[in-house]
Amino acid sequence: AVEPGSPYRVVLLGASGVGKTAFANIFAGGADSMDSDDCELCGDEVSDREIEVDGETATIILLDTWDAEKGDEWTQERFMQIGDAYLLLYSITDRASFLRASELRITLRRFRPARHTPIILVGNKCDLVRRREVSTSEARACAAVFDCKFTETSAAMQHNVWEAFYGIVRQLRLRRDSK
Ligand code: GDP
Repeated sequence: AVEPGSPYRVVLLGASGVGKTAFANIFAGGADSMDSDDCELCGDEVSDREIEVDGETATIILLDTWDAEKGDEWTQERFMQIGDAYLLLYSITDRASFLRASELRITLRRFRPARHTPIILVGNKCDLVRRREVSTSEARACAAVFDCKFTETSAAMQHNVWEAFYGIVRQLRLRRDSK
């Protein structure tokens, strides 16, 4: 069995502007660090922390691919290879970002042919109800085709963000325990 402290690498993937940095900031525990002076930290690529899920501690190393969208294919391929699990983000207010998530899912499948890499399709910005461009039912159907879990979140309202991380840990444990 894997010792409980063994860290999981979780990668944030998605088009620019969907909320990856906001997710990373919530994870890092500095919900308002965006307004602080050390704004280099806004794009910080890596943070790690221990979280307790179902009474058991897990260590997550979170990798934010914020600069991988700028066309650096090598960087993107690295991220596709090194993750133990993926949060595939789009914005419910931006259909193009939803299509981008589909493309990323297909690319990911090429790098991760094993079907057991946990992936959660995450529709962020669900607080912006009136600007919705992607329906919940469409996204859920898409996630089923993609063989991944699905959730909607609002990083702005801190709604469902931690639940997405807990979901990833639970899936990683299921995989670990079935080995
Ligand atoms: P990234 O490019 O994927 O890292 O996206 P950011 O985290 O930088 O977010 C892009 C913009 O969307 C910023 O202005 C955020 O404040 C905003 N944003 C992120 N998440 C949410 C959300 O859940 N709701 C709303 N209303 N805005 C959000």
